[in-house]
Amino acid sequence: MQTQMQTSGEAAAAAIGMVPGPAIPAKPPRRLVSRESKAADTIIKVGEALIGGPNFVVIAGPCSVESPDQLLDTARVVQAEGGMILRGGAYKPRTSPYSFQGMGEEGLRLLAQAREITGLPVVTEVMDTADIALVESYADIVQVGARNVQNFSLLRKLGACHKPVLLKRGLMTTVDEFLSSAEYILAAGNPQVILCERGIRTFETSTRNTLDLSSVCVLKERTHLPVIVDPSHAVGVRRFVQPLARAAMAVGADGVMVEVHCSPETALCDGEQSLRPAEFRSLMEDLKALGRFMHRNT
Ligand code: PEP
Ligand code: MN
Repeated sequence: MQTQMQTSGEAAAAAIGMVPGPAIPAKPPRRLVSRESKAADTIIKVGEALIGGPNFVVIAGPCSVESPDQLLDTARVVQAEGGMILRGGAYKPRTSPYSFQGMGEEGLRLLAQAREITGLPVVTEVMDTADIALVESYADIVQVGARNVQNFSLLRKLGACHKPVLLKRGLMTTVDEFLSSAEYILAAGNPQVILCERGIRTFETSTRNTLDLSSVCVLKERTHLPVIVDPSHAVGVRRFVQPLARAAMAVGADGVMVEVHCSPETALCDGEQSLRPAEFRSLMEDLKALGRFMHRNT
């Protein structure tokens, strides 16, 4: 039967002028990111924070580092309300080249200063392979933004990075493609990858993106890597961030990353989706209450 199928397959191939070659393997090699290769949840330790397993991490901070006061004021709010990791972009992937592009190395220095003062570890984005060494020298976690999720040379180089990588899902990447991107980093030698669902682009226009919470279920089943949710970029509307953060915990995510700003009206980037301090406090209260119910360490 097998021989017959091969024979007819070969004959059909020859009939359309195809040169015989090796068969395509029926199954791709087992991936390092998969549950089959490692059943237990990967738990990543960053400072005092644990990401993965029974823990629920809250990463919070401004979209972008804008000034010493802006960052420090926000960092103090994050720390006072129980946030575990400070976020802030120094290199910003902006749609328009005329929009604020970030403070660059000066922004990294301010993040390091905020860490020193508050004790919070920091996560910040790297956009260019040329900046990896610099960003890695300041950051506790290196972020790959949605737009670079399939920048394979960047991913490969992050395999040699000694810091955990927070990899955001792209606007148009499937779950399987997202896992393949993570595989690039693991295969190149860095096992510390945190996946982040941040919404995908759909036909729906009433929110900035569409938060694909089903991807969290699928990812948790298929990979041992921690999976967090960024409701801020997913929804783009401040008042929807808190309910979606609750939903992220309810669906089994390992944490959330939210944007917080002490004066969102004057923010240089993403003010409309940034929580004010009181709103962040309320979100933390909700997550702590829900965490008790869901047996998550918050
Ligand atoms: C960010 O988190 O700062 C960011 C730019 O998000 P994304 O890459 O998901 O758009
Ligand atoms: Mn932002």
